[in-house]
Amino acid sequence: MLQDTDYLVVGAGASGLAFADSLVAEADAVEVTIVDTRPAPGGHWLDAYPFVRLHTPSSYYGVSSLPLGADEIDLAGENAGYYERATGQEVREHFAAAAERLAETGRVRMLTGHEHLGRDSDGERIRHLGSGEVTRVKVRRKVVDARYLEGSIPATHAPAFGVAADARCVPVNDLPAVADSASSYAVIGSGKTAADACMWLLENGTEPDRIRWVRPREAWFYDRRHFQPLAQVAGIVEGLALDAEAGAAATSVENLFERLEGCGRLLRIDPSRPAAMYRGTMLSLPELQALRQIQDVVRLGHVRRIEPDRILLAHGELATDRRTLHVDCTAFGLSDAPATPIFQPGRIVLQQVRHLSPCFNSALIGFVEAGREDDEDKNRLCPPNPYPHSVEDWPRMIASTWRAEGRWLREPDLSGWIADSRLNLLGALPDHAGEQSVQGALKRYLTNVGPATAQLEALGLSREPEPHITIQ
Ligand SMILES: Cc1cc2nc3c(=O)[nH]c(=O)nc-3n(C[C@H](O)[C@H](O)[C@H](O)COP(=O)(O)OP(=O)(O)OC[C@H]3O[C@@H](n4cnc5c(N)ncnc54)[C@H](O)[C@@H]3O)c2cc1C
Repeated sequence: MLQDTDYLVVGAGASGLAFADSLVAEADAVEVTIVDTRPAPGGHWLDAYPFVRLHTPSSYYGVSSLPLGADEIDLAGENAGYYERATGQEVREHFAAAAERLAETGRVRMLTGHEHLGRDSDGERIRHLGSGEVTRVKVRRKVVDARYLEGSIPATHAPAFGVAADARCVPVNDLPAVADSASSYAVIGSGKTAADACMWLLENGTEPDRIRWVRPREAWFYDRRHFQPLAQVAGIVEGLALDAEAGAAATSVENLFERLEGCGRLLRIDPSRPAAMYRGTMLSLPELQALRQIQDVVRLGHVRRIEPDRILLAHGELATDRRTLHVDCTAFGLSDAPATPIFQPGRIVLQQVRHLSPCFNSALIGFVEAGREDDEDKNRLCPPNPYPHSVEDWPRMIASTWRAEGRWLREPDLSGWIADSRLNLLGALPDHAGEQSVQGALKRYLTNVGPATAQLEALGLSREPEPHITIQ
């Protein structure tokens, strides 16, 4: 039998650690046990491809109590002029340090290499992956599901297409190790990982005409300039103003995305192609220009099979050869788990609340859990907001964020915590409120956010995430 605990957090990735960090800081004398199948804290970052970086600045990523990076501005490369973005190694080191600090409080036990199997009448069942031994933990307060939104990544997923034994296809993780052995490349995937693989090839001197991009769908990306915190926070407020203006004036989803693209809020690599995919990722303009150099873009649907001399796709086939390295970048990334109440009897299910802010959301949920008693009240403040996959999800997701943020503003404890949190991307707003650009954008945002919410709902674009949760 393992030691009893107040909270059992299942998952030591960004979500579980940000939650535990916030809960331990805010709640009196709670004991927390964190369990994860992986050999160390950090979740999917432990298996990320070698050239991965955060796509958002480090400044507001990780756990609240520990900075990530030094908030420096990059001077070179496609991120020049913007705040630094941690490498995978830096993210892993951050989470390792965060876990160590939590353990040092004496209130948090970290069980890596352990799998949570569910519960029976004697408690929560935990299996030691080394020995196979199953023991139990008695949980006095709540089990925290910090794996509900676990995504799939190329290193650990099975591709949805077949690969003949003598064809050359590697997961994106292996690209740097084997790239030199190929004379050309076929990058497979439509999202950010595929864009990163193409950028890695270009930055390492591969001529664009040696890259074929099998990109069945066109995706929307944010312009990274609208996600810069601290001294550049005016860009974030400008982005929010653009969202609200487009939302208030939109007559349909198509019209909404025309507006978002027209004002520079959203980008697509090939503006001549319709884009239906939206995952909330971002690119800088230099990155966009570089990616547009790749002209051999294959749009014959999803890959079905790779053979030594041909690629079979949903809508045709292409010749290939053994000198071409096929690079699998097709994993789904974000989970498509449906909304479920975050606070349930004996259970917390960590999910997105404010869009595209996973660490902030988990820390916020930890704060709310520590300070409130009533689950209905907690759910009112933290309505689940499922991850986006297509353009249809944008209005629902943004409107849900706006509704939740409106409620936070009316709660002094919560708005105080948000104002002080390192994970709040708008944290520097008060310091820059006197700037003309901030004032102008803020005014446009505040003028439009109400009508925009109403407009999205009136158009029937905003789908409530969960019918049995009351939204005021
Ligand atoms: C390549 C990539 C880049 C990203 N970049 C950014 C970014 O720049 N900014 C941003 O805000 N977001 C980014 N994201 C989004 C990302 O999903 C989050 O940042 C975050 O890392 C997700 O963490 P998580 O804890 O929810 O999930 P995970 O990291 O998947 O952690 C879940 C953990 O639960 C464990 N687990 C599952 N089942 C069990 C079980 N039964 N028992 C025990 N343990 C279990 C798993 O082993 C895993 O370690 C990125 C995502 C990817 C894939």
